[in-house]
Amino acid sequence: MTNNRNLRRFLRSVLRIASLAVLAACSPGNPPDTAMAPAGSAEEQDTDTIDLIIAGDYLVTMDDGGSVIKDGAVAVDEGLIIAIGTADEINAQYKAHGNLPGENRIVMPGLINGHSHAAMTLLRGVADDLALMDWLNNYIFPAEVQFVDAEFVRIGTELACWEMIRGGTTTFVDMYYYPDVVAQVVEQCGLRAFVSATIIDQRSPDAESAADSLVKGKSFIDNWKGRNSRIMPIYGPHANYTLNAEQLAATRAAANDAGVPISIHMAESPFELQYSKHCMSLSASWMAQRLAHTSYGQPKTKSAFSLNEKWALFTTRRPT
Ligand SMILES: [Zn+2]
Repeated sequence: MTNNRNLRRFLRSVLRIASLAVLAACSPGNPPDTAMAPAGSAEEQDTDTIDLIIAGDYLVTMDDGGSVIKDGAVAVDEGLIIAIGTADEINAQYKAHGNLPGENRIVMPGLINGHSHAAMTLLRGVADDLALMDWLNNYIFPAEVQFVDAEFVRIGTELACWEMIRGGTTTFVDMYYYPDVVAQVVEQCGLRAFVSATIIDQRSPDAESAADSLVKGKSFIDNWKGRNSRIMPIYGPHANYTLNAEQLAATRAAANDAGVPISIHMAESPFELQYSKHCMSLSASWMAQRLAHTSYGQPKTKSAFSLNEKWALFTTRRPT
């Protein structure tokens, strides 16, 4: 059954490419509307029922032209988007086992939460409106050591994932303790996530020091790398003020060895900027660049990174 379905899809793709090529050849100055997949034969339409059609008052495509389709719909089959267009077009072309109506809704790609400590949903209200270091050292770090355990992380992360799903987030970049538990929750709830093993040089809920958290982090990375395509295990060196230069370098090296990215707080507060400058003789941007390179403190090698004012996520490429 599946093989027949795949064969039909393959043949339909060939027909689609052929028909687009013909249209393009006939109308070079007026390219075909590729937003709507061309229809197959009437026989195909009758027999090829897809999994799902999602409709919306507006369909935000995020294509290069930034087009938005009013009264749009998305055709989904076997986990893949196979066509988009107006709802009338999609419904004329496909039948689906499931239909999500779109009254008063927008259909758009999922939002990405670039930085989270998901389980901290359970620490809401513990302390607010304080300077970062006062908040961390006098409230959050002590509360975490006292209260956070694997069950805390499971419940807090589940709540956070539920809230993110409700809000349209499909991917998040998390940094917290007990990353195995975070990854398990992500695996169960269907989101995508970069899950960090937090590296920090102090007693934390799941480690005693930077060295201890690095050992446990490696175990987490080994356990989850390549295990689930929705989950990327990464290293999360906490910050330049909770790790010294040697520990940052060791974390960078561990990430390089594993071929995974790192996520780190960077230039999050005036304190951090001053600390970088006075204790490491580095501006935050220089520090970000050094961390982004595959060999911290070593000659530059190719790498890519993105950075905003509050957080940084670096993608790592092994030296070539
Ligand atoms: Zn943070």
